[in-house]
Amino acid sequence: MTRTGGCRCGAVRYTLSAEPFAVRLCWCRDCQYWSTGNAAVNMLVPRDAVRVDGELDGWDSMAESGNHMRRSFCRRCGTPMFSEARENAERMVIRVGTLDDATGIVPTTIIWTDSAPAWAPIDPALQAFPRQP
Ligand SMILES: [Zn+2]
Ligand SMILES: [Zn+2]
Repeated sequence: MTRTGGCRCGAVRYTLSAEPFAVRLCWCRDCQYWSTGNAAVNMLVPRDAVRVDGELDGWDSMAESGNHMRRSFCRRCGTPMFSEARENAERMVIRVGTLDDATGIVPTTIIWTDSAPAWAPIDPALQAFPRQP
């Protein structure tokens, strides 16, 4: 099925024409910045299934894995949208909060629980990894 999404202000829109490989809650320190202190809800998707319309800005950094990450956001409203590793051309991450309708998108995994705060609700029903699996 094709899903659609975009940033809060509507300047950036996208379509996703594949099912996600995975849906993960991520407590890495970086995601806490983008998610106002909470875990990010990320879906891992095939890059060639995503079509983006609109102007993004981005921030580049090096992940602990040594991968070159680019995190993209709407330059107008600042909504965090995507992240991509230069070393992984096939996959990218979409922030689930940007979907128009996230029905059926359910996290199955929690990652980076090592950097979660003590109050973080870690659902025991989900597979948890202390760091990047
Ligand atoms: Zn926007
Ligand atoms: Zn993260």
